[in-house]
Amino acid sequence: MSIHVLPDDVIAQIAAGEVVERPASVVKELIENALDAGASAVDVMTEKGGRQTIRVADNGTGIKADEAALSITRHATSKLHSIDDLINIQTLGFRGEALSSIAAVSKMSITTRHQDEAAGTFLVLEGSRILKQQAVGAPSGTVVTVEHLFFNTPARLKFLKKETTEKRQISSLVTRYAMAYPRVRFRLEQDGREAFSSIGSGQISDVIMRVLGLDKFRQMIEVSGEDTIRETGQRIGVYGFTSMPDYNRADRSQITLFVNGRWIQDTSLTYAVTQAYHTFLMTGRHPVTILLLDIPPEEVDVNVHPTKAEVRFRDPNIIFAAVQRAVRRAVIEYAETPLLRSSRQPLTTDTFDDHTSRWHSGIDSHNAEQLDIAWELDSPGNYSHQHQTGHDEIYNPGMILDSSNAPLKPRTLPALRVVGQVGAMYIVAEGPVGMYLVDQHAAHERILYEQFMDAQQRKAHITQHTLEVQTIDLSPAEANLIEENLTTLRAVGFEIEPFGVNTFVIRGVPAMLANTDPVEVLEEVLDDLATGQAPGQTSIEERIIIHVCKRAAVKAGQILSLDEMQALMRQLERCESPHTCPHGRPTMLHLSSDHLAREFGRK
Ligand code: ADP
Ligand code: MG
Repeated sequence: MSIHVLPDDVIAQIAAGEVVERPASVVKELIENALDAGASAVDVMTEKGGRQTIRVADNGTGIKADEAALSITRHATSKLHSIDDLINIQTLGFRGEALSSIAAVSKMSITTRHQDEAAGTFLVLEGSRILKQQAVGAPSGTVVTVEHLFFNTPARLKFLKKETTEKRQISSLVTRYAMAYPRVRFRLEQDGREAFSSIGSGQISDVIMRVLGLDKFRQMIEVSGEDTIRETGQRIGVYGFTSMPDYNRADRSQITLFVNGRWIQDTSLTYAVTQAYHTFLMTGRHPVTILLLDIPPEEVDVNVHPTKAEVRFRDPNIIFAAVQRAVRRAVIEYAETPLLRSSRQPLTTDTFDDHTSRWHSGIDSHNAEQLDIAWELDSPGNYSHQHQTGHDEIYNPGMILDSSNAPLKPRTLPALRVVGQVGAMYIVAEGPVGMYLVDQHAAHERILYEQFMDAQQRKAHITQHTLEVQTIDLSPAEANLIEENLTTLRAVGFEIEPFGVNTFVIRGVPAMLANTDPVEVLEEVLDDLATGQAPGQTSIEERIIIHVCKRAAVKAGQILSLDEMQALMRQLERCESPHTCPHGRPTMLHLSSDHLAREFGRK
């Protein structure tokens, strides 16, 4: 092929690929434009996961009639004049690429009226071409409607994920912006249903409560920290909420960071958050966190990434330390409150009120010294187990259900001292009469199983509401299977409701699965159910419970800290049937002192 310059529309589509990766990226750009326009209300509507329609309406300043057509031109922006402005950029946008990129790969229309003008403008575009422009009456603000995204880029279209996945992406995006901009009233409607709304009270706690639900919100700790940059004396603020150690997840996806109002992805800062839980969380578990960082603009370079999802810090270490310290402080303060330490139960209203009032009172200064000591000890590489400060009760490997409210069960095993871990699979422990080799996964399954049965009997809360209400689309056969077993599924903690033909909404999952993808779990359970029940087998309910426990248990291959192992053993010691897992396989091998003595010819 000979060399030739690409036609404009192809160039535009290629450029669009950088900014508009999926429906959620369109929503993000449009929300950012609305926020930049000073909107106090942002309304997002999507159909079919944004593939069919995305509409974002705001009550911001609007676009002037004579600038409307310009707004969809590449590199047209009102937010930046010279490169020097970038150093002190206050807006989310500045590249002038979003509208033009979205226009290039969709059928778009814009209705906008600038607050100082009497008439509005209505623009219709298709793949960058303006099909129509006319004056209209409209309220001050802007409505951008994007239809048939990627209609002219089939390759992109093919790579889109399932509709439910795209929907989830969008709702998680909108809820995140709502948390970061609590003053702005957000509303999200998906396929004709209101999926989320915030009230714009200005309180981040109000939004988090709506996003997570009250139960989970009660498991969040307020973070509020400030650091000073030594050379310049400027301050770095770290605000937000982070989960109590027992409320955690297997991945980092629920750690959300906003830097100066900009949602960013930053592996190192995400690590700083997890790292702040050192010894409070099992390896491989991560908290649920939303942090808003306030950083002097000159400390941040925002022009690193086309979607502006990454930033560069002048001194990453300062920011890392500020984040880690603020979160650590919040977690330690929580852990040292005896009232809360003994209660991993959903908090009663009283303790909650007590707790909230403490949140608002800021950080207790009498704790400061202690905090700093803990901080020192927990700096990487400096950690040793003797320095543990007695937080044993809160080591609760990956389990949310607990029996702290139930009477302490009688011992079924002697007190076992953990010696170490073998092959990231087995725990070596010592008892009064010999050595035990414990299968960590099987043992944890047993513990969870008994806790689950126990909680169910006590009618304790066994459902954890999901972060976002999710829908699951099923085949007719699977849908039937759910219908048939709906009561059983509810009895074990799934909160599911029919939602149209072969579609269900999942509002909650068994609490111990709080950190897993509810859709995935339900699909697995369905698979399990679909295989049918052989005569003489355990009941369907029991099968689901066993499956849930298996899913929630520590996996073989997971490296555990000494404390985590000790916590595991302590719970196993009081299981009714500590010797077998719910599937009936052994949880441990015992080598008695006698046996050892014989083997070594000492007897
Ligand atoms: P950028 O946000 O980087 O400037 P965009 O392509 O997203 O680039 O938008 C181009 C311009 O159109 C913006 O600079 C702004 O002046 C105007 N604009 C876009 N959306 C809105 C909106 N919702 N309200 C007011 N003005 C808008
Ligand atoms: Mg923009």
